[in-house]
Amino acid sequence: IRFTKLFVNNEFVDSFSGKTFPTHNPATEQKIADVSEADKADVDLAVKAAKAAFARGSEWRNMDASARAKLINKLADLIDRDAKSLAALESLDNGKPLEDAVLEMLGSADVLRYYAGFCDKIHGNTIPSDGNQFAITRKEPIGVVGQIIPWNYPVPMAIWKWGPALAAGCTIVLKPAEQTPLTALELAALSKEAGFPKGVINVLNGFGPTCGAALAMHNDVRKICFTGSTEIGHKILEYSAKSNLKSVNLELGGKSPLVIFDDADLDEAVKIAHNAIFSNHGQNCCAGSRTFVQAGIYDEFVKRAAEMARDRKVGDPFKSGTQQGPQVDKPSLDKILRLVESGIKEGAKLEAGGKKIGNVGYFVEPTVFSNVKDDMSIAQEEIFGPVQSILKFNTLEEVIERANNTQYGLASGVITNNINNAMVFAQAVEAGSVWVNCYDAITPQTPFGGFKMSGLGRDLGKDSLSGYLETKTISIKLP
Ligand code: ADP
Repeated sequence: IRFTKLFVNNEFVDSFSGKTFPTHNPATEQKIADVSEADKADVDLAVKAAKAAFARGSEWRNMDASARAKLINKLADLIDRDAKSLAALESLDNGKPLEDAVLEMLGSADVLRYYAGFCDKIHGNTIPSDGNQFAITRKEPIGVVGQIIPWNYPVPMAIWKWGPALAAGCTIVLKPAEQTPLTALELAALSKEAGFPKGVINVLNGFGPTCGAALAMHNDVRKICFTGSTEIGHKILEYSAKSNLKSVNLELGGKSPLVIFDDADLDEAVKIAHNAIFSNHGQNCCAGSRTFVQAGIYDEFVKRAAEMARDRKVGDPFKSGTQQGPQVDKPSLDKILRLVESGIKEGAKLEAGGKKIGNVGYFVEPTVFSNVKDDMSIAQEEIFGPVQSILKFNTLEEVIERANNTQYGLASGVITNNINNAMVFAQAVEAGSVWVNCYDAITPQTPFGGFKMSGLGRDLGKDSLSGYLETKTISIKLP
């Protein structure tokens, strides 16, 4: 493990308190490293560094847009170069299969490249007014940005937020999740190697209620970007309200419906639905966690879905071919097992899995429930684990209503060969993403975020970039 300290002003430093906390390998439950723990004093220092890097006349503020793009592209190249070692570190800390982690690194580099292309294309408008007056708008970087991210996709989550922030010309203080503190420190080191001026990117590991809250409460932070639970999302908004009304971007939980009609290609539908829920061990905010299947194919679908779940290869994340490693930590595993229990008690039918695997590590069987009813806890609560809930429906109108019967609205999917059904569903569903005959079709250019209690604002795409820019209107009166 190369880096365990805080990264401020392009240097790795100890926390003021000298405190550290351990991070563990979820496959073996053994400690990997002790990392420095930031609290309020460290947040103050990092924000000060980010503020100085953003100040008028600083190297970063004076930098040509194309030079900024070059730095971002350079960071992308370095992530590509180190993809394997970054991925190995992630698998160790998070438990995800190594092969999946490599793809996440390469995908993150592409997100940076997408945003690098915007650096020299950010501009405002000229707006004519009456008589001898016109106005121009300028797009200016919002300033110091605080970013708080979860443990499920540590590098992509950091980079989805770094890309637009850097392209806009902002400076950054990132707080990774306490379960997965290691890869963000590698990214920090790569940003220094790429040549970012000191203070542009700062990384503080620490806990939510201390480090995270101090960042979200800080009066010199102009925007706070958060990905995590809806519960903490409420708090982030509250912190903003209680401090300087900083702009807030929230990407929160989900209970996303995937709707499969009788006319779908069954093999394809079973596969899409399987990947929608089981990828990343179900630890995915947009997981297709409610699989609605039309009555005509329901029984056959359930049978095949259960077979596919039983065939899933669970084990050592470093072994080639592994599809599922351990869940990230014990509280996550316990929550999954508790919800599986409640599914059984509430009358759902367990078709596959349902049990913890082995005595060491947080492994759980890929689990499938049929006969799931809308009001069961497994259909309402975010499980964040490999648990597929299959619900039966009859008509389009019925399934639209049931799909929307949730506080969440992050993502959704529909599988059908009937274009009318697909489009009516796409129009009616209350969700930020609708995937038709596919799932998880996320690319750098597609905006991603939630309706309802799944969040505010968007990550990715041009939409995210605009959230890092302020519009200044300069009105000019001619003589
Ligand atoms: P999860 O349940 O998936 O761990 P959380 O919403 O608890 O999701 O955590 C996501 C991120 O939010 C983590 O980086 C965590 O440290 C941080 N966090 C947790 N509580 C707070 C808080 N009160 N204030 C700010 N950040 C927090």
